[in-house]
Amino acid sequence: DFDERMPMSEIPEFYQLSLSFNRMADSIREIEHRRRELISDMTHELRTPLTVMRGYLEELADGRLDPTPETYDKLARETRRLERLVNDLQELSKAEAGYLTIDPKPLCLCSLLEGLITRLSEQLIDELTLSLDCPADLPRVFGDYDRIEQVLMNLLGNAVRYSDSGTIAVKAWCDDPYIWTAVSDTGIGIAPEDLPYVFDRFWRAERSRSRHSGGTGIGLAITRRLVELHGGTIRVDSQLGQGSTFYFSLPMLP
Ligand code: ADP
Repeated sequence: DFDERMPMSEIPEFYQLSLSFNRMADSIREIEHRRRELISDMTHELRTPLTVMRGYLEELADGRLDPTPETYDKLARETRRLERLVNDLQELSKAEAGYLTIDPKPLCLCSLLEGLITRLSEQLIDELTLSLDCPADLPRVFGDYDRIEQVLMNLLGNAVRYSDSGTIAVKAWCDDPYIWTAVSDTGIGIAPEDLPYVFDRFWRAERSRSRHSGGTGIGLAITRRLVELHGGTIRVDSQLGQGSTFYFSLPMLP
């Protein structure tokens, strides 16, 4: 007389084998279910830019749309969106299969931040300014340079995408044994009921979808995975209409 939740050692040997097979079958079914879900989500996301592009091409072909530079611009924009989506999807599927890896080394976060901010400032519209507050004596972090740059590019890219004007402030500080970085913006903000979902794959707030911002809803899912691979954590504070701050931690050099 036993049930499935009993520890193996208390179950008669005769039944143990069949129970382990059942448990294995359950976990295979679960993995298969997650794989199907991922593929169905990906297909859905790829369909949108493809439908838009087909629409433009059909209208061009039957003369309803003029072949002006603006039309080609729109087509090029959708193509770039598709390209970004495919790259992000590849990263996401690696992340979900546990294949995303990091190659951590001692690195100076301040110089990484300075380089990024300088590059980004050159591309920014006049209404937005960038600021950096990073103490010169900040201890080094133990992390993967390219991956941390990717995390920061995702957060800064979002800050730019979801702000029309104001300041994007980046701040780094030490709280032993972690180095924390905060990226704040004075943009559209996130509603309190949406906050629990921002790191979920393919989740985008309704307002962001309608901004036609070219986002994919994947960046933050990958960002969280990358921070966690370093042994850090990421969280967000936000006020609708006021702005958002994303905080993440990375381990200090041991
Ligand atoms: P996306 O490609 O849509 O930006 P992300 O995974 O990076 O995808 O972000 C998911 C969603 O979280 C965004 O669509 C947006 O609704 C919200 N979001 C992320 N960052 C910000 C921000 N700085 N300000 C306001 N909303 C944000």
